[in-house]
Amino acid sequence: MPTEPALRVIMRRLRDIMAEPADGQERLDKIVRQIAGVMVADVCSIYLRRQDGSLELFASEGLNATAVHNTMLKRGEGLVGRCAEIGVPINEPDASKHPAFSYRPETGEEIYHSLLAVPIQRSGQVLGVLVVQNRTVKEYSDEDVEVMQATAMVVAEHLVSGAVSGVGSAIELSRALSRVITGEPISDGIALGHVMLHEPRIVVTKLMADDPAAEMRRLEDALLELKTSLDDMLSHELLSGAGDHRDVLEAYRMFAHDRGWERRLREAVQSGLTAGAAVERVKNGTRARMLKTPDPFWRERQRDLDDLSDRLLRILAGVATGLLNPPEMPTDTILVARNMGPAELIDYDRTRLRGLVIEDGSGQSHVAIVAKALGIPAVGQAEGIVERVTAGDAIIVDGVIGEVHVRPSTEVVSAYTDKVRFRARRQKQYEALRDLPAVTKDGERIALQINAGLLADMPHVKESGSDGIGLFRTELMFMLSHSLPRVDRQTQAYEAVLNEADGRPVVFRSLDIGGDKVLPYLPHVPEENPAIGWRAIRMSLDRPALFRMQVRALLRAGAGRELRIMIPMVSVAAEMDEIRELIEKERQLGLKRGAKPASKLLIGAMIEVPSVLFELDELLQRVDFVSVGSNDLTQFLFAADRSNSRVANRFDSLSVASLRALKQLAKACRRHKVPLTLCGEMAGRPIEAMCLIGLGFRTLSMAPASIGPVKSMIRSLDAAAITRLLDELLVGGRSGSVRRELEEFATGQEVET
Ligand code: PEP
Ligand code: MG
Repeated sequence: MPTEPALRVIMRRLRDIMAEPADGQERLDKIVRQIAGVMVADVCSIYLRRQDGSLELFASEGLNATAVHNTMLKRGEGLVGRCAEIGVPINEPDASKHPAFSYRPETGEEIYHSLLAVPIQRSGQVLGVLVVQNRTVKEYSDEDVEVMQATAMVVAEHLVSGAVSGVGSAIELSRALSRVITGEPISDGIALGHVMLHEPRIVVTKLMADDPAAEMRRLEDALLELKTSLDDMLSHELLSGAGDHRDVLEAYRMFAHDRGWERRLREAVQSGLTAGAAVERVKNGTRARMLKTPDPFWRERQRDLDDLSDRLLRILAGVATGLLNPPEMPTDTILVARNMGPAELIDYDRTRLRGLVIEDGSGQSHVAIVAKALGIPAVGQAEGIVERVTAGDAIIVDGVIGEVHVRPSTEVVSAYTDKVRFRARRQKQYEALRDLPAVTKDGERIALQINAGLLADMPHVKESGSDGIGLFRTELMFMLSHSLPRVDRQTQAYEAVLNEADGRPVVFRSLDIGGDKVLPYLPHVPEENPAIGWRAIRMSLDRPALFRMQVRALLRAGAGRELRIMIPMVSVAAEMDEIRELIEKERQLGLKRGAKPASKLLIGAMIEVPSVLFELDELLQRVDFVSVGSNDLTQFLFAADRSNSRVANRFDSLSVASLRALKQLAKACRRHKVPLTLCGEMAGRPIEAMCLIGLGFRTLSMAPASIGPVKSMIRSLDAAAITRLLDELLVGGRSGSVRRELEEFATGQEVET
């Protein structure tokens, strides 16, 4: 059984093979011969992946020589094909008995029973498969698997470096293997560009150590630095309280202090690898074991370990963490991230940012909302994307259908270039609609407003032909700032917004901090459930200083003009009394100081906590307007975390329950003559907007890019007909989504959705 020195022997022999003059095929033949010898295997073969995903037997010691370059396995075929597909080792004591075994008579492999196949991968791409087989029925040991994985890593490196070039076109093709990853569209639009990793993963280029003792010292130093940095992080005053983040950090620390991990790292360095290569190898080895279990707990731990390994690699490479605008940011950057907060996205240079791909993240998460606000096409839930790309890879983000094309072929690029042109033409058509009113076929005028949050959004007010700003998320400005913006700075910013709006209404929403919106300069109290924790109005009422500062600035900016202030996360009507009192105090203070008052002050509430739906009469007597935050309302109505991709799409906002709630609200607002708007993501999707009109909504606020499509829908809609349909749909008997019925209506009535 090969022990750790076996790896060292293989590494030395591989190095010798590469040093000798030989062509690619000769080198591959020598490689399989050496591996078979050291691994005491009867067979060692290398299969390489072709562009169509099939595998070709490229070299073999033990199988019939005539099978080389003749045996092809279709994508996913046989145990070897499966290994390439799932990217993890396959260890079968009696392969021929396995249901997935694919018998190839030309190879003569029927006499071999045990099989161990490991993927040859580089930067997450599977380039091929390295296989050993033995006549006996046996399970290969964990050490065997690790030796094979490390060997495969070196083989991959040589394949990519061109050291075994000339063995056929397959290798060149596999270097550029394209891939499509299907995720979820979270911000509309299409972008072509090049990958930049949000937390750049270090690619280990030097695998074999020149001076093993020096590598060991580097590893020890890096481990020490890693542990110290994690200990520092844990003792940080803002992170020391209880909460999820604490568990995560504790798990990190647990791994960082794990003796087994350290031992494996040291052994890998002892075998002749550089410290970086050792980290990669141990990471891949553990990953193979952990991914075998379907237990989500272990998968999550795998992510911890990946992050920890990446951190260690960054320390080894001397790269600072948290670098957001590196000078090498391409001018057509497509940002690829495991996960990302809204502030982090804002931090990137917007002029160079074309698109975004996130492994997690749903359409209602705040980073998606910011991406939409910035007009950046984005795809979420792109599983495995971070592992599969390398910085600088060509990539296409299709935020319309939720697809990501990694290293696309020229045909795909040209198809997408056409698509982009087509969309630009359609955008032109929307622009032509810009000065036409949003009126239904039967004469109902719908006011269309935009959601904004940054001064940079302001040109969209006019460009989109909107009727004003239905939601100005003031917290975005706070999140961008490195310190708490003082009253003067806030006043200037709000004034600029009102000036740019040029007389159109602007609804300023007071600070909605909490959940995933954190201000770095304010003490952050860790909470178990931040989305339903101390956020928004709850903070404003408990610690009014910040809220009053904001109101003061808003009143100053709104001097002599109409000013609208909207309060987020109102849960009971009586909260509005307290809010009004605070605003009144500020107003009186201003008057006393001789400030010019607003010509009209309107105070509204967001409808996003379901409890207020049961206090509507009380609430509507206390407000001048209301606006539905459908993102939060849906989240709380269905108890489904909007930023958790596993549940966010489980419940449709076009469900009977939410539509009944909205209909009842629209009715109450008519009765109380209180203006009603909806400013969640729902308003920007044509089918949803059509439905809202059927429920009685006449003002909708959305991302600027949605104005065109929604207006085009409105101008082809018969409002009376959709109202009738919704009356029928909501009568009783139905449960869950009515999306299909609404889509059928739109098709039947030729509504442009
Ligand atoms: C909402 O909840 O729908 C909303 C508009 O507010 P935010 O998305 O900022 O929470
Ligand atoms: Mg909200």
